[in-house]
Amino acid sequence: MSTCIFCNIVKGSIPSQKVYEDKDFLAFKDINPAAPTHILVIPKKHIARVEETTESDVFMLGRLVFIAKKLASELGLEDGYRLVFNNGKDGGQEVEHIHLHLLGGRSLTWPPG
Ligand code: 5GP
Ligand code: ZN
Repeated sequence: MSTCIFCNIVKGSIPSQKVYEDKDFLAFKDINPAAPTHILVIPKKHIARVEETTESDVFMLGRLVFIAKKLASELGLEDGYRLVFNNGKDGGQEVEHIHLHLLGGRSLTWPPG
């Protein structure tokens, strides 16, 4: 069994509340939501972080944003939302499988802490 939490969510060996799935991507509810709507959008392929992407991942990176945008619309976030990639220790990244946070459903402060 892979030690990566999100690879295990992709395989189904860890349960998740899925909101979107296709051949290459998955989106599911964050287990510890920081906003009324908090979704994580991931590629099924394991890539640890933004820092590890290469030119060949540009389409994947764009798809993450576009899937999040479509979900935001479907989930009724017409007043706005925030998309976040945490990268590495100082970026607050805890799970080493690239993911895009979609946060919304309340007014979000800026800058974050
Ligand atoms: P990071 O800090 O790495 O950018 O964000 C990781 C996110 O994954 C956190 O918001 C955390 O709540 C979420 N998370 C960690 N483990 C699980 C899990 O097993 N299931 C789900 N649905 N979310 C998780
Ligand atoms: Zn993984």
